[in-house]
Amino acid sequence: MGWRSASFGESEIYLGYEAHVVTDIPGRGHMQVPHVARALDLEPAGSHRGAAGLVALDRAGDLPAPREVLCDRAYNYTHPATFSLPLLERGCILIVDLHPNQLGVHPGPVPGTMWIDGTLYTTCIPPGLVEVTPITRDMTSEQRERAQQQRRQRQPYAFVPHGARRWDGARRYRGPGISGSVRSPHAPKSMRQGYEVPTVHCDQLGPGHECGCAKTVTLHDEDFPNIRMPFQHGSSKWFASYHRRVGIESVFGDLKTNRLHVRRGYFRIFGLTGHRLLLGFALAAMNLMILRDWYRERDHIDPWGVLLGEQIPEIPRRPRASRVRGGRPRPKTTPRKP
Ligand SMILES: [Zn+2]
Repeated sequence: MGWRSASFGESEIYLGYEAHVVTDIPGRGHMQVPHVARALDLEPAGSHRGAAGLVALDRAGDLPAPREVLCDRAYNYTHPATFSLPLLERGCILIVDLHPNQLGVHPGPVPGTMWIDGTLYTTCIPPGLVEVTPITRDMTSEQRERAQQQRRQRQPYAFVPHGARRWDGARRYRGPGISGSVRSPHAPKSMRQGYEVPTVHCDQLGPGHECGCAKTVTLHDEDFPNIRMPFQHGSSKWFASYHRRVGIESVFGDLKTNRLHVRRGYFRIFGLTGHRLLLGFALAAMNLMILRDWYRERDHIDPWGVLLGEQIPEIPRRPRASRVRGGRPRPKTTPRKP
């Protein structure tokens, strides 16, 4: 028995299996690719989703190997050791949505720093920007715009990555005074910038207080691996990146409605092994259909046709719209108006 969190109302409970499918999504600014099912793991409903997602990703192979992983909350709202940490160790970057329980403020790795919603900030951040409006599914476009505006105002106070991730999972991050996104008295060079850059008053904190504005910190994979992202959760950058998850929705749309009609009773077999095998064949067949259409739209033969030495098929001309409208040609006996 498994459950699906509903957008509105109660969670939905069902009996059966859960298919964990991987598809390719291009990076921003890269050419489009067909969304085919790259890998599958089928598990009994209610199994650990992080563990199953990891199996599916490992099966995706090296053609090319995944570099960024976009997944829904079911995967990253798990213990880090089961999903996010192994992915970081494989060199992947996670781009995820955060569960309301994962939002919040935590002390940072060195004095003068703090984590807010998975991003590291200096403690000189204005108090009004610490807790901002959370992003929810049912907010209006005006509320969302306002929430993003708060995140844009918060961005200058964040630590930014400096250099690539090292083999042991360590990565250096520069404080906002060093990176120059704020003017901080602790980083004299930053004070030479114009007043359009926000100014922090670290020197007025009083004795015993310190801030992270002019610090460089080293973060490790173990530092909040299931919520840490290259950009703030809910920012416009995050939206642009996480929105690419529609690629997998397209695969499931093809599987359930657009190409195949996989639903209850589609496989007339019992047992996990049988379902794994048959769903594997169904996905492979669907991939062939997707690839054929993808290449045909571009006047090419799909890779399967190339292998078999086929010619580009003649595409029949579409019938006139008036004949299609009624689903069948108009009978000849229809009286015409003079
Ligand atoms: Zn400061």
